[in-house]
Amino acid sequence: LEAQLFQSQKMESIGRLAGGVAHDFNNMLSVILGCAQLALREAEEGSPLWQDLDQIIHAAKRSSDITRQLLAFSRNEVIAPREVNLNEHFAEMQKTLGRLIGEDIKMTFQPAPELWPVNADITQLDQILVNLAVNARDAMENGGVLTVATANVKVDSSYSQYHLDAAPGDYVQLSVSDTGCGMDRDTIDRIFEPFFTTKEVGKGTGLGLATVYGIVRQHNGFINVYSEPGQGTIFQINFPRFAGGAAVGEHGAAEAALAGS
Ligand code: ADP
Repeated sequence: LEAQLFQSQKMESIGRLAGGVAHDFNNMLSVILGCAQLALREAEEGSPLWQDLDQIIHAAKRSSDITRQLLAFSRNEVIAPREVNLNEHFAEMQKTLGRLIGEDIKMTFQPAPELWPVNADITQLDQILVNLAVNARDAMENGGVLTVATANVKVDSSYSQYHLDAAPGDYVQLSVSDTGCGMDRDTIDRIFEPFFTTKEVGKGTGLGLATVYGIVRQHNGFINVYSEPGQGTIFQINFPRFAGGAAVGEHGAAEAALAGS
């Protein structure tokens, strides 16, 4: 428990620091981007100067993507939780995610019937889906299958002893599985650490799963990860069941806090 507390305090301070840097850095980037775009208009299209400016603009945009991720990671707050059915929400996102992963990866959806609702922030849900889908895509460079499924699950107190984030109660599970490269034990142990990445420079920031973890914990949920090198990976995201404002099991206080923030 102490280790977990330490981890969340560490995440919080790194988040605050990163957010501060990202904010100032972003202001500077806007100046670079703005000036380069103005100068580009003056340059003759295709000339060496034009090409240099074009590269500056590309690099500045890429940097601004990274700072946006940093900001999202550090902000990390529940903006507007509301009652959501994950089956319906995923159906709305499916097209966008399909474009993101490309045509070499097949996507299948296995919605559970009579899925319980959750109380969640839509923007943050999208962030989770996008981060998991991007990681799955990167793990399947030669194509493969991305499976998204939902389920109602019950957590009892014996499981809670085994998984400290999982308070006993009812949960709605969103699982995202890929048939990609998988991970070894040492990698799995570090994936939620901010800035941990195995991707080449410029491709990964190491903030995707740290962000996912932060969002899920804010919703009082928990995550399971199963992975084998060469076999693929399963991420199971579990959100507490929402029961229309009334307290449910041991999540009552947590849900009231979410609804009020
Ligand atoms: P990033 O994607 O920027 O590297 P993440 O925090 O999203 O940062 O992921 C951290 C690391 O976890 C990745 O670099 C990769 O090594 C590993 N990882 C995450 N998802 C998967 C996956 N679906 N399959 C294999 N490895 C993964």
